[in-house]
Amino acid sequence: MSKPNPAIRVRPIRAFADNYIWVIESVAAPGRAIVVDPGDADPVDADFRSQHIELTGILLTHHHPDHIGGVAGLIARTPVPVFGPNDPRMPAGTRPVGDGSVIEFSEMQLSFETWALPGHTASHVGYIGHGALFCGDTLFSAGCGRLFEGSPEEMNASLSRLAELPPETRVYCAHEYTAANLAFALAVDPSNESARRYDAAVAAWRAAGAPTLPSTIALERRVNPFLRCASPAVREAVESRAGHALARSTEVFAELRRWKDGFR
Ligand SMILES: [Zn+2]
Repeated sequence: MSKPNPAIRVRPIRAFADNYIWVIESVAAPGRAIVVDPGDADPVDADFRSQHIELTGILLTHHHPDHIGGVAGLIARTPVPVFGPNDPRMPAGTRPVGDGSVIEFSEMQLSFETWALPGHTASHVGYIGHGALFCGDTLFSAGCGRLFEGSPEEMNASLSRLAELPPETRVYCAHEYTAANLAFALAVDPSNESARRYDAAVAAWRAAGAPTLPSTIALERRVNPFLRCASPAVREAVESRAGHALARSTEVFAELRRWKDGFR
């Protein structure tokens, strides 16, 4: 018998200025939910109380406070398993996951595979399952996370790996950065028609107060300059800014990331 693979429903709880705490529900088990990167316990508590949802588990992508700050409060009220990178900076009691780990939530019939995604931090991980990717601060729509601990080589490899996921994979990033990322993407690649159309849609969603996420891998492959370092348009723009030819796509990536760090 094949393993059950029920559909999931994913929705955001907003936290701080621009964080999304993603809530994962299974159609097979209404009334339960997993949260990803709860930086703050209060908005999760309020949401779950009002909707009569029982917290069933917590997935963490990396140790930054805006991703883990709510864990202690949540598990004090509802002691559930917490999964995250094998890193002493994670909350006490976190069950460590590594590349290729599989996490099961049997009461919800859900399972997620973990990928190591170094770059933003050294121990950053992502969770993949049920047609969805929860990528924390590694991949953003039309952008990527800053390199606080990893090298350009590591981040470029992490992003290239994500780009090979099935194109229809829904991409749940941890921040609403899409509009600012697109401004940069269009400065790099002004002739990218997909990015222009996306920019218009994003402006309309933001004006309506709606999230721009999830994205998809297919869309990111078309609009995200950090996934397009091998494309002639991105390479030429970056080489022109650097003032010299760049032999490898990792060098293009490194220059592009530097360019974004100082953009506006
Ligand atoms: Zn972070």
